[in-house]
Amino acid sequence: MSEPSHDIETASFETAAVHAAEPRPAHGGSVVHPIYQGTVFETVPGETYDQIQYIRLNTNPSQEYLHRKLAALEGAEAALATASGMAAISTTLLATLAAGDHVIAAGAFYGGTHHFLTEQAPRLGWKIDFVGPDDRDAWTEALRPETKAFIVETISNPLVRVADLAGIAAFSREHGLTSIIDNTFATPVVFRPHAVGFDLVCHSATKALNGHSDLVAGVVTGSEAAVAKVRHVLNLYGGSLDPHAGFLLARGLKTLALRVRQQGATSLALARFLEGHKGIAQVNHPGLESHPDHARAAALFDGYGSVFSFRPAGGVEAAESLLKGLSIPYVAPSLGGVESLVTRPAATSHAGMSPEERAAEGIHDDLVRFSTGIEAADDLIADFARALGE
Ligand code: PLP
Repeated sequence: MSEPSHDIETASFETAAVHAAEPRPAHGGSVVHPIYQGTVFETVPGETYDQIQYIRLNTNPSQEYLHRKLAALEGAEAALATASGMAAISTTLLATLAAGDHVIAAGAFYGGTHHFLTEQAPRLGWKIDFVGPDDRDAWTEALRPETKAFIVETISNPLVRVADLAGIAAFSREHGLTSIIDNTFATPVVFRPHAVGFDLVCHSATKALNGHSDLVAGVVTGSEAAVAKVRHVLNLYGGSLDPHAGFLLARGLKTLALRVRQQGATSLALARFLEGHKGIAQVNHPGLESHPDHARAAALFDGYGSVFSFRPAGGVEAAESLLKGLSIPYVAPSLGGVESLVTRPAATSHAGMSPEERAAEGIHDDLVRFSTGIEAADDLIADFARALGE
């Protein structure tokens, strides 16, 4: 079943977030798309296996509605929702690489992705080269006949570095590689990677796309053909998203721009406050002029996202005491939700990396990551000022 959806000619993300893919006329007049929880639907003569309407095959009408909405927001032909961000990333790689293939990985990665690339990839017969995100000579040196893909994160976790993204997309195109980007930290409000030429965009929708810390989901977007390939693999590995979770995600998407813009403004205000504080040794925020990638981020992005990191003066002890002293944020290792979260990546999101790997990336034990929620900026600044002993 394919529903007629409302085609909106708008350049505005805010309007598309609310109206893109919403069927008109609406189902029974309902302004909210219903949840089709049915596992299976009556078959239509001539359907191929992948077209049968069945939740695991990602063809339930609620799933298809969500896919259309996600594609519109990421500026892609097609989208696929998955059971988690890791399902999106692992399935994208499984659909792209065969045993013997080689992938170039630029910069630092979310701990789970890093763990997958270093632990699972060798078991699957894939070879990986980690290269500097701006080091074009290293990309060229890494190339071999078996190189099939290039993977990068838009804003790296937790150092919030911004790689030479346009350069990576162009290099991949020039050498016939599939370019894959994890756009979780930026969201399409801040950056739309397909516009600079990336083939496949992945998200942990668990984070800002949903925005309410109450579901786990992932997203892959790209051309019809590229997403069909990923969907085929997802269908076989069985990582589809349940329509009820998909309903929550579609609801979250409608407020994405509002949340991300407010969270971005608050996070920059907080970073500026901390940068000037004697209790803080270093602040990493791509919106700060002091950040090494600030100029690139300012040129490529519309905003800088809600996550930043910093090192308190006084090492791990000072970091732990700050975490205990803050009263508004939760001490928890996720990001992108309406509530601020604070964590020490070495102990949580990046615990899967060895201390040597973390040190090589610059993820020091005293590094603190802050995911800015929608609380008032003044309240968060006052909370930090108090916890820092002002
Ligand atoms: N990508 C990034 C950048 C993340 O931060 C995370 C989780 O923190 C993931 C992927 C994995 O997402 P999920 O937990 O939804 O599997």
